[in-house]
Amino acid sequence: MDLFEYQGKQYFARYGIPVSPGGVADTVDDAVAQADQAGYPVVVKAQVQVGGRGKAGGIKLASDAAEVRQHAGAILGMDIKGHVVRRLWVEHASDIAKEYYASFTLDRSAKKYLAMVSAKGGVDIEAVAAEDPGAIARMHVDPAVGFTAADAGRLVDEAKLDSEARAGAVEILQKLYRCYVEGDADLVEINPLILTPEGRVHALDAKVTLDDNAAFRHPEWDDFRDIDELDEREKLARSKGLQYVGLEGFVGIIANGAGLAMSTCDVVNQVGGKPANFLDIGGGANAEVMANALEVINSDANVRSIFINIFGGITRGEEVANGIVTALQRVEIKAPMVIRLDGTNAEEGRKILKTVESDRVISSPTMLAAAKHAVELAGGVGQ
Ligand code: GDP
Ligand code: MN
Repeated sequence: MDLFEYQGKQYFARYGIPVSPGGVADTVDDAVAQADQAGYPVVVKAQVQVGGRGKAGGIKLASDAAEVRQHAGAILGMDIKGHVVRRLWVEHASDIAKEYYASFTLDRSAKKYLAMVSAKGGVDIEAVAAEDPGAIARMHVDPAVGFTAADAGRLVDEAKLDSEARAGAVEILQKLYRCYVEGDADLVEINPLILTPEGRVHALDAKVTLDDNAAFRHPEWDDFRDIDELDEREKLARSKGLQYVGLEGFVGIIANGAGLAMSTCDVVNQVGGKPANFLDIGGGANAEVMANALEVINSDANVRSIFINIFGGITRGEEVANGIVTALQRVEIKAPMVIRLDGTNAEEGRKILKTVESDRVISSPTMLAAAKHAVELAGGVGQ
């Protein structure tokens, strides 16, 4: 999950990385209120998940409320590389003596973390890497060993940061490392990391990508999810803890395992249908999970038939069948469903399904036959 700058700064602040005081604003009036609070001059910043906002006109300094009004009005609704600005971050403006760069990321081929620091910050770091690779100091960090103050010092020296910035930069790098590791991020990047004329070092921008695989141990990440960007079906699915992606078609899909769910989408396409969604109920799904999955599919007005494709491994056929029976009792399923059950305890599952079978609840022996049947029930090919 990629964070917006303002969220990244909130995350940085948890780890003691200094950022400028500021607040978010969704309207021009909000922006003025946040600016009054932060203290003038301020900088008004477009919140979009794309770099180069400054060059695109999405970052403006304002010395009073009238200027904030003018810039906020211009930036809200602006299109920056295909991203429409819906939110601003307004912070107290900093005086800049120098702009540096600092980041931690994962070097997969080296199987280590990679720390990078440069005295050439504030500009596109890929361009620096291409034109002047020597200007970026790099250090691999072994996760088992960690990143010490001495490591940070060596990196800062190698990058030739100004001596006034050394102590501040070393401290921030150590905090940034904690943010990266304890914060379960895939990337933490400060560009620019600035030195002020008074000799303070702090983060002027924040780019943070969190590792979604660690979401289970970070309930606080829920606040970062841009819930407005999800459609209703995805919100419901998320609230039930399901792996769901809404699509444009008309055949609702439930499968166990991401691979099988993708194959199920493919086979529906192959026989002329269009999947309404991708839904993976995961390994070991029980009746409750199946019932939840059916409820989510049922909430999709575009769904005209449902294809449940289960190959039992850890997931047991009778659990799946019980889930379908439970769901049928719990909600009125609007679309007919075709169920292909194979693998562990499939026989037992099919027996249970027999009790609810009708022209709207159909068992089918193979994946291909089931897909064809589901597409037929949805009103046929290519619709
Ligand atoms: P990006 O262009 O999307 O990476 O956005 P940044 O947040 O990095 O801002 C781009 C540039 O705007 C920075 O490199 C600075 O030169 C400038 N800028 C941002 N905030 C301030 C500020 O508080 N004061 C001043 N003087 N310049 C700023
Ligand atoms: Mn930046």
